[in-house]
Amino acid sequence: MQLNWSRYLRLTVVFLVACSALGLFFGHPLWGLLAGLVCFVGWTLRQIHKLSHWLSNPGGSLETPESTGFWGELFDALHRQQKHQLLTRDRLQAQINRVQESTNAMRDGVIMTDTDGALVWWNESAEYLLGLRRGSDRGQLIYNLIRKPAFKAYFDARDYREPLDLHSPARPHLRLQIQISLFGDNERLIVAKDVTRLFQLEQMRRDFVGNVSHEMRTPLTVISGYLETMVDNAGQFPAKWQRAITTMARQSSRMEALITDLILLSRLETGEKMLDDAVTDIKVLVTQICHDARALSGDQNHQFTLELGDRCYLRGDRSQLRSAFSNLIFNAVKYTPAGGHITVRWHTDSQGAHLSVQDTGIGINPVHIPRLTERFYRADPSRHQETGGTGLGLAIVKHVLLNHDGRLDIHSQYGNGSEFICHFPRERIAEQAPETAPAAP
Ligand code: ADP
Repeated sequence: MQLNWSRYLRLTVVFLVACSALGLFFGHPLWGLLAGLVCFVGWTLRQIHKLSHWLSNPGGSLETPESTGFWGELFDALHRQQKHQLLTRDRLQAQINRVQESTNAMRDGVIMTDTDGALVWWNESAEYLLGLRRGSDRGQLIYNLIRKPAFKAYFDARDYREPLDLHSPARPHLRLQIQISLFGDNERLIVAKDVTRLFQLEQMRRDFVGNVSHEMRTPLTVISGYLETMVDNAGQFPAKWQRAITTMARQSSRMEALITDLILLSRLETGEKMLDDAVTDIKVLVTQICHDARALSGDQNHQFTLELGDRCYLRGDRSQLRSAFSNLIFNAVKYTPAGGHITVRWHTDSQGAHLSVQDTGIGINPVHIPRLTERFYRADPSRHQETGGTGLGLAIVKHVLLNHDGRLDIHSQYGNGSEFICHFPRERIAEQAPETAPAAP
């Protein structure tokens, strides 16, 4: 806004001089000047009144006041600026409306919360999926509306790399996947996705594998039983059948091992809290497993070192822990050449408890490490015939650790041994010995 201020100052001076000259004409120049000043101040006050009246109506519904000269120009400039602002506001509003329309059209629920977690804005899908109410929920803390401990813990943890799965608080038959992103001043953008269909498919897959494994177990046990009897009495069969019977017996016991692992894995995956939270004496458990591992090693004569410090008590499901630790220790035997060294360590620190199984074996190419816990993933497929493994061992370890709020770390150098470390959170460490003696291996 550029006003010709000096021109209007000059005009004012000319006006006052003219008033003084008129006064001089009547013999009273000062009265003329005074009258001119009074007129000027009166007119100026009137314009200020018009301006303040106009400004007191911020919505801009009143017409811009009219005037002449300096004030006229000022009002025109203000009018132009107001029009420009209204135009910009309308354009921004149209953009906001479009963004809101498009987010409302989304099938995913979208919610924005402020620094404290209070609701600022959400779309229609969020109302449907999470039961938020437009009228009353604005400003409410989101974890007071989604009253699930898992959600509160996820929200507070501020580690949003992995999404959170939960049942919808408003429609329990729906399964939601929640993903949070931080933006601005610790504000959060929460996206709730309906993954019910995927969840059901995954459930069907698990049930299918679990059921098929169960159904196959009984006939296989019968076949294996007969084959074992035949192996025991192999001398009664013609020589050409003896080899076939031994091979069949070996393959059927592999299938039995596979089915046992599949059933265990599907039970672990369903995650239904079969977790028995007894206190397990890790020293006793690991010693028993290493005893079995020595038997597995047999003539290969692996050297075992056990470094099991104090505070060896862990809260968790003993049979699951046994499966996880024995998979790691037996793998160390399977993938370490004869005479190699296997070290099992247990220690606790401020982070929690850690069980490490280290070997001097064949090691793993680093490219395979991220995928090793997938079902049937093998770093060296050509070896699995030799080792007789099921390919499910590390998947079982991963799920046992998930069930115990823990995680698995794998360090390895190809050709230079491997180390598998199970980490358990501090809350799982128990101070006293288990009440009952653990079952015999
Ligand atoms: P498998 O029954 O084949 O042993 P696992 O799930 O237990 O299945 O292990 C997956 C793969 O990880 C193995 O096939 C092997 O390639 C690799 N692996 C596991 N433990 C070790 C180890 N201690 N040293 C080297 N490779 C290992």
